[in-house]
Amino acid sequence: MIISRNIKNVVNIIKKVKSKKKIVGFVPTMGALHKGHLSLVKTAKKDCDFVVVSIFVNPTQFGPKEDYKKYPRTFKKDKKLLEREGVDLVFYPTVKTMYPKDFSTYVQEVFLSNVLCGDSRPGHFKGVCTVVSKLFNIVKPDIAYFGQKDYQQAQIIKRMVADLNFGIKVKVLPIIREPDGLAFSSRNMYLDKIERKQATILFKALTLAKQLIKGGIKDSNIIIKKMKKLILSQDFAKIDYIKIVDPKTLRDVEKIEKKVVVALAVFIGKTRLIDNIIV
Ligand code: AMP
Repeated sequence: MIISRNIKNVVNIIKKVKSKKKIVGFVPTMGALHKGHLSLVKTAKKDCDFVVVSIFVNPTQFGPKEDYKKYPRTFKKDKKLLEREGVDLVFYPTVKTMYPKDFSTYVQEVFLSNVLCGDSRPGHFKGVCTVVSKLFNIVKPDIAYFGQKDYQQAQIIKRMVADLNFGIKVKVLPIIREPDGLAFSSRNMYLDKIERKQATILFKALTLAKQLIKGGIKDSNIIIKKMKKLILSQDFAKIDYIKIVDPKTLRDVEKIEKKVVVALAVFIGKTRLIDNIIV
């Protein structure tokens, strides 16, 4: 497994790989890897001849009061996990490499980015689109892999790839969960024992929503109210948002008549967790 912190070096490696007509798969991550990330890597390994994983905690997607500084960084462990999966190249750039002093160009999607997490985290998706564009231009993958865990992010990346003609296939893969339903997330590391237990309420609320919808309840407000009540039964939980939205436009659906995404962001203590379910 090659580890490189240097853009030119990665560009040259990819050039050689592509000259042999190999299919390049790419999994962008912020590290602190878990089974969710590894499921993307495993699929990339199956689909592609050469798999690149990037590890970069991207400062431009964090707000000034967010957890950029304390975001978990576990490179040694990540490296071992990726080696075990047979990853070909790990791109692990520094902040200075990705954002040199004179950096002044950003990529912004302006329709899907204003709602849900974009509403609570202004500028977040601008940072995501900018870094992913840079990574796409460096790695030039044939296929890029994202998780449904960040449903909105995946939709925005798909939009960006289409709008800006990146010519990359974007695959979105299912959410991997702990046995008790909590979605794997690097931020789960922040939770203490009690919070970790209470965090299972996110998936319980999503499961409740699914049951209600399948049971014929069409009024989103009724479902959201019941979810709120369930979540607030946990004393460390504070709701950022609970939304039932159209899977493509991400706009609120009042009356449920076709496929919807139930999405939520909930603080458990100081830790903001997101999750969603497609019904
Ligand atoms: P992150 O390191 O949090 O930026 O995540 C990198 C990629 O892994 C993103 O495409 C995420 O959607 C995906 N991912 C994170 N958690 C999970 C999970 N529990 N299941 C599936 N994919 C995930």
